[in-house]
Order: sequence, then C-alpha cells, then structure tokens
Amino acid sequence: MSKKIQAIRGMNDLLPGQSAPWQYFEGQVRALMQRYGYDEIRTPIVEQTALFARSIGEVTDIVEKEMYTFEDRNGDSLTLRPEGTASCVRAAMEHGLLHNQTQRLWYQGPMFRHERPQKGRYRQFHQVGVETFGLDGPDIDAEVILLSARLWQQLGLFEHVTLELNSLGSSQARAAYRDLLVAYFERHHALLDEDSRRRLTSNPLRILDSKNPDMAEMLAGAPKLMDHLDDASREHFEQLTALLDAAGIDYVINPRLVRGLDYYGRTVFEWTTTALGSQGTVCAGGRYDGLVEQLGGKPTPAVGFALGIERLILLLETLALVPEGARGELDLYLLPMDDAATRQALLLGERLRGELPALRAQLHCGGGSFKSRIKKADRSGARLALLLGEDELAQGTATLKFLREEREQLSLPQAELKATLAALLAGENA
Ligand code: ATP
Ligand code: MG
Repeated sequence: MSKKIQAIRGMNDLLPGQSAPWQYFEGQVRALMQRYGYDEIRTPIVEQTALFARSIGEVTDIVEKEMYTFEDRNGDSLTLRPEGTASCVRAAMEHGLLHNQTQRLWYQGPMFRHERPQKGRYRQFHQVGVETFGLDGPDIDAEVILLSARLWQQLGLFEHVTLELNSLGSSQARAAYRDLLVAYFERHHALLDEDSRRRLTSNPLRILDSKNPDMAEMLAGAPKLMDHLDDASREHFEQLTALLDAAGIDYVINPRLVRGLDYYGRTVFEWTTTALGSQGTVCAGGRYDGLVEQLGGKPTPAVGFALGIERLILLLETLALVPEGARGELDLYLLPMDDAATRQALLLGERLRGELPALRAQLHCGGGSFKSRIKKADRSGARLALLLGEDELAQGTATLKFLREEREQLSLPQAELKATLAALLAGENA
C-alpha cells in the first residue's frame, strides 16, 4: 500500500469544531473596520518575487530565509506572499488608488513563511492587516492604534496586552544613528553572537531586537535611537503620545523596538502579551512613508499594522474569551420518525427556516431505526428535537422534545410552531 499523503509541516487544517472562534473573530474584525470606515482589499496570494525583495528588504529574515519562492511554467520567479503590505501597495499603485486621494484599507488572509513550526509560529498563518495611505500626521498613527485597541476591548483582551512604542526617525537620522550603533557594537564585538556579527554590516539595527539573554546587558547599554531623532520625527512622536494620553491608552516606550522589515520609519509599535510564552507579539505595525516611492510610485505617507490571527485565537482560547454563542450550536433537530414522515419533515424545515431566519435547524437524513434516530438527535447538540411520526402526520401536529432540559415535551399544531420556536429562541418559556 502506498504511503498516505499528509499536510505540509507547519500548514494546518482548520477542522469542524475549530472554526467557531475564527468565525467569531472574523466577524468582530469586519464590524470594527466598518465602524472606522476602512474598506476591504483582497489581493492574490502569489506575487512576483521582486515585489517582496524590493519592499521588505534583501537582508531581512523574511527575504533571506523564509520565503516560498518558485519558478512557474514561464520561468518567472514567483513567491507566496509572506506579508500583506507589499501586495497592498502594489495593488493600490497599479489601480491608481494613491493619486490625489487618501485610503484606509484592511485585508485578511493566509501568509507563508518557511520558519521552524512551533506553538504560535507556522508556515502558513493568517493575518488581518490595516494600511492607510496619503496621511502623514500623528492623527492617523493614533487612529490605527486606537482601532487596534478597540478590537482588544471588543474581544475582552484589553487588560491582557501591552502597547510598545518607538520612533525610528527619518532615514537620515537613522543613518547617523546606525554609525553610532555600529561603533558601539564594535567596542563590544566579543559579546556579539554569530547572527549579530553577520548583521553588523548588513542590518545593525536588527541586533537590538535580539532575544539572546547573553547579549541583554550589552544591548541595554547601547545608544538609543530615541535620543538621536531629527526634530520633525521627535515632534511627530510627541504629538502621537499626547493623542494616546488624551484617549487614555497606556503605552511603554521601548527604544529597542525596531521591527524586522526595512520599510519602517518614524512610528513603530507592537501589542504584546505575556500569556503565550515566547511568541508574545500579537500585532505589529508602524509608519512606512518611503515604501510607495521605493516601489516606483510618488512619495506617499503610509501607516498600518498586521496582526497574527492564530496567536489571537490562541490567546482567546487560553483566556476562555470565546463566547458560548459563537460555537453556533443547533437549535433544532428535525426528526422524521419513519421514512413516511421524511418528506413532511423536510418541507416543514424549509418553512420554518423561511419564517425564522435566526433558527439553526438540521434535518435527519439517512433513515435508520427509531433508536438510532433518537441517538443522532442527541448527538447533534441541538437543544430541541422536532418529532414527526404517524400520529403527528395524521393530526397535523408536531412534537417538540427538550434534549438538554428536564421538561415535558410539547405537542402542538404545526401552525403554532413558528410562534413557539420564536419564543424559545428568544429565551422565553413557551
Ligand atoms: P516575530 O518576531 O514573532 O517573528 P514578525 O516581526 O516576523 O514576528 P510581522 O511580520 O510583523 O511579524 O507579522 C505581524 C504578526 O503576524 C506578528 O506579530 C505575529 O502575530 C504574526 N506572525 C508572524 N509570523 C508568524 C508565523 N510564522 N506564524 C504565526 N503568526 C505569525
Ligand atoms: Mg518573524
């Protein structure tokens, strides 16, 4: 016998019974975006490799070692998107969305990175992202942060996450700071690990992001970009923090927060949690005013964030914050007691679904003995079974049996079902 084919490591199936928290979360996100006037954009999951190499940066973890890149049948180099911002910018430029207008966009979907799979880190994972274009003031930075804060509030997560904030300044300020930083690291060269030595020439700011505990003390003493900001960036940052203060949003200024993607400047932020172990960043973003121009467009200010849905769902489940109703249990199991009643049960189900849009009803299909039918009704998880047998057919009635409560069953005319079920769905005692 040939070996069974399995899913690719780090790429997960979402099985029935696991989808409820996702649907709940996605519903919350969609509602939130509408509340803030953000429009959804959907882009292909495959793009030309050059798009990511040019935007994310050649010497980032993502482009160096995490991308799924392949040649298609035409010999073009294509890549499964590792993140959403580059595609969003590409689409906005291609369709003229950035010309003399502002945009507030959001997206959701799968991303692909060849990382070592572990809890909270997968090779296919999902993000929700927000990208705004054409606005350069701290007001929009504050808005995207407040929007994310409201999502945590909606989900009951607000007390479990911390906002970390930093400014990366202008590219000139960053270049000058980079020299200072390299000089500092060179003085402490013996303490740098292998990864950091490699980054010393390619991407020294990323060294600040190292989680290596042996380097922690040395990193704590490194010069801080916050102390070397250009005036305009400092002012932008002060205005942003003043807006957050006014809105009552707490934050921690983390001078070592640099983000892994090259296109960020000025504001950067992360929402982190201590409830998930080492994969503690649930949402990350910032300002990327240079990216549109870098990809061949006119200079266009931009700010956004991306959040990892798997980590968010893990967090919701760890903290038991998925509401009971989100599981989508059935209200009613339509149970013909014999084959003669099947047609009537099917038609009655259609009628009731038409009359009661909130009703969640499932029809018993596939026949079976009386005993096995009752067992299936119970296993369906429904609160009620609607029984139709010989007597009911003869009298035009139906029997409502309570499957989860100690309660007498009800026998009633079919014409009264609508009102009775409506009352039961509304939580009244019919
Ligand atoms: P990390 O430092 O955890 O590798 P990152 O800086 O690579 O994160 P971003 O590219 O900013 O992450 O992506 C935004 C968010 O997407 C992260 O904060 C995280 O919640 C989620 N994310 C990133 N990579 C993965 C992954 N491989 N699996 C699951 N979620 C991920
Ligand atoms: Mg990463």
